[in-house]
Order: sequence, then structure tokens, then C-alpha cells
Amino acid sequence: MSHIVIIGAGECGARAAFALRERNFEGQITLVGAEEHLPYERPPLSKDALLNGLEPKLVSDAARYADAGIDVLTGLSVESIDPAGKTARLSDGQILAYDRLLLTTGARPRPFPGLSGANHRIRTLRTHGDAVAIRASLQPGAHLAIIGGGFIGLELAATARKLGAKVTLLEGLPRILSRGVPEEIAAVVAARHQAEGVGILCGVKIQSLDESRDDAKVLLEDGRVIAADLIVVGIGAIPNVELARDAGLAIDNGIAVDEHLQTSAPDIFAAGDCCSFPLTHYDGRRVRLEAWRNAQDQGTLAAANLLGAAEAVSAVPWFWSDQYDLTLQIAGLADGATQAVWRHVAEDAVILFHLDADGRLIAASGIGPGNSVARDIRLAEMMIAARVRPDPVALAAPGTKLKTLLAA
Ligand SMILES: Cc1cc2nc3c(=O)[nH]c(=O)nc-3n(C[C@H](O)[C@H](O)[C@H](O)COP(=O)(O)OP(=O)(O)OC[C@H]3O[C@@H](n4cnc5c(N)ncnc54)[C@H](O)[C@@H]3O)c2cc1C
Repeated sequence: MSHIVIIGAGECGARAAFALRERNFEGQITLVGAEEHLPYERPPLSKDALLNGLEPKLVSDAARYADAGIDVLTGLSVESIDPAGKTARLSDGQILAYDRLLLTTGARPRPFPGLSGANHRIRTLRTHGDAVAIRASLQPGAHLAIIGGGFIGLELAATARKLGAKVTLLEGLPRILSRGVPEEIAAVVAARHQAEGVGILCGVKIQSLDESRDDAKVLLEDGRVIAADLIVVGIGAIPNVELARDAGLAIDNGIAVDEHLQTSAPDIFAAGDCCSFPLTHYDGRRVRLEAWRNAQDQGTLAAANLLGAAEAVSAVPWFWSDQYDLTLQIAGLADGATQAVWRHVAEDAVILFHLDADGRLIAASGIGPGNSVARDIRLAEMMIAARVRPDPVALAAPGTKLKTLLAA
């Protein structure tokens, strides 16, 4: 095999490219990315980057790609692929011939229904350019309206408060973080935001968003109007599957891959935010994750399998979010849980363990300042992977070392 092409120069694509070299692949590697920058980290875009300067935090600098012999083509998108002829056509007309292909095309923000065209005061947050534009509007005293009480909206709310902006967050469902975060943990997050002065309105129905030269407006179905300097819409992401779909690859809530990250086409793999895959620890249930570590892990795994290793996905899903001095960490998937067990890790740090009907630990969600829950969540991950059935009383007792429950 002499040429591996990776489409999508984000976290996952970059990790895969380096992992190919770490596995001693000596052929040509081409990483193609539609953005102008070398691959950069997205998590800081809603956190530190907005506070501490807006240079993108690169995954690696140009010299490292050069040293590793990885050709990075930035500012170019792949417009079509031909699985039979094994070629990819780029936006500048170039045709790349590949032996094996990896799709790491990621996801893009879900647009607000009915909104189209260039909106200067109504934005989304996914790219470095989005963060630069949002930062320019976050002057002290400016009013930011955030649509959607998910992670990106909440992190942005915390950062905007630190910058002195007034923040109103609107959520259509009865509570924030309803996707994947237990109610009890979401309540801790909501209380902290309210204490920091964020106005949270849940259960609101938005009729439309509107912008003029001087402001932007959220029109609610009950007739209320919320005027703001900037509206940021954070209502989820949709996977970039068009390239794969047009090439005839199977799609199922993302580019469908098997446990080896192989798509329905021979010699084409997919990884990261763009793909859905079967999760071994959850009876093969198909999921698509939008999480930084998953992008890294799958980039590494895809590299191994592009080279013929046939290794299966085995990681337990893990996600973190930073808001103010609080860090929230979630390991596993809690839906399907029939029992929840609280554990107080410290005065201001808690973990909620989720067990299924058989008593197996299937998820753990923790929240506390800094790294306070990190160690126990790491152990919980190991317990989930080991499919243990821990004694709930022991789990709850702060005196029990979680390590001792690993063999339960
Ligand atoms: C603001 C923000 C904060 C986040 N915070 C956290 C966090 O705290 N914790 C956490 O776990 N995760 C977080 N995430 C999620 C995490 O960043 C993503 O899961 C991760 O970036 C996914 O990496 P990826 O490489 O799969 O996709 P992406 O990062 O989306 O990269 C895909 C790349 O492919 C390019 N591309 C797409 N189609 C083509 C094409 N046809 N041709 C060429 N290029 C193409 C795209 O332009 C993009 O650059 C955050 C995400 C955002 C946006």
C-alpha cells in the first residue's frame, strides 16, 4: 500500500496521520482539510480561547507534519470520491488516487430552522473563525442570547460572564443538558449559572430569530421579545456525511462503520464525530459521539486498521466540560439505568453512578471544582469496561476505595 488519503483535517484526521507513522507506515500520507488552518483543538473555542487570545491551538505545528512526512492540504475540500476508481476530487480540480481512504469529516452546527444567509448577529460556534467573530461582540455590558442549553451554549455562557457580558440562555425543553446528563447533575450546573448571573429560561418556544443593523431579536411564541447584541445558536451538530452518501456508502446517523471503523465500502474507513459505530460495552448498540477523546482514540484505531490490524472499538465513551471552576465528566451511557447511587467525593464534588437492572455499572457522571472527580471517573470507566456489578452501598460510601470494587 503506498498512499493513504485522510479527508478532514480536525482532531481525528491529524491523530490518524501521526498514528500511521507511529505504526511505521512508510507510504505517502495526504491530509486534506477545508479550513485554512492546520488542525486545531476545538474545545478551547468556547472556553480559554475566548478569554486569552484567539490564535488557534494547533494539534501540531507545521514542522511536525513536515518531519513526519505528512502532506497537509489546507483550504481545500474534497468534493467527491469514487470508491470504485479509488480517487478523490478536490475543490481545485486535483484528483488524488488512494489505496486506502479515511473519512474524518466531523460535524457542523445544526442551523436554526428557517434561518439562512449571512447573519452577523446570529451565529453558531464550531470553528476558529466563529470564535473570533463571537469574541468581537462580547464586550462588557453587551447582551448575549444563547439558544440551547447544551454543553457549547453553557460553556459559552460561563465565558461570556467572565468577559462581563449579560447572558440569557433559552432552552426549549423543561431543563438544560437533557441529552446525556442526569437531571441531578444538570441542576447543579443550572444553579451555578444562575448564581453567576446567567438568566436561564427553560421550556420556551421560539417563533423566530431576527437581526437588524443595531441588534438581534428572539421572538417567543408567547409574544415576548428578547433583544440582544448577539445571538448564538447551540442546538446540536449534524455529521458531515454528504461526501460518503453521494459515493453510495451506508449512512445511519453518521457514516455507518463496523467495530473496526470500516465503512460499507472496501478500503474506506471513517472515524470521529462523522461516524456511527457499534459500542461493545452496550451490546453493540450503534452510537455517534461528539467528543474530543473519542476523536483521538478513533483516529489512532483507524490508523491501525487502515494498516490491516482489525482492532475493535473498545473505549468507554467519555466527555468533559468546563464551566467556571467546575468540571463535569461523564463516562459511559446512562440511558437504560434503573438505579442511581450518589457518592460525595468532597464537600463540593459529587458523582452519580448509574446501574442497570442487572446491577451493572453503565455510567458515571461527576461534577466538582478542577480535577476533583477525575480519578474516580477514571476508575468508573474501568469498572464499566470490566462490566462489574458493584455493591451500591459500597459505591455510595466515601470511605470505599473504588479500586476495590473493580473485581466485583
Ligand atoms: C466549541 C466546542 C467545544 C468543545 N468542547 C469539548 C469538550 O469540552 N469536551 C469534549 O470532549 N469535546 C468537546 N468538543 C467536541 C470536540 O471538539 C469534537 O468531538 C472533535 O473536534 C471532533 O473531531 P473530528 O476530527 O472528528 O471532527 P472536526 O473537529 O469537526 O474536524 C473535521 C474537519 O473536517 C473538515 N471537512 C469536512 N468535510 C470536508 C471535506 N469534504 N473536505 C475537506 N475537509 C472537510 C472540516 O472542515 C473540519 O475541519 C467541542 C467542540 C466544539 C465545537
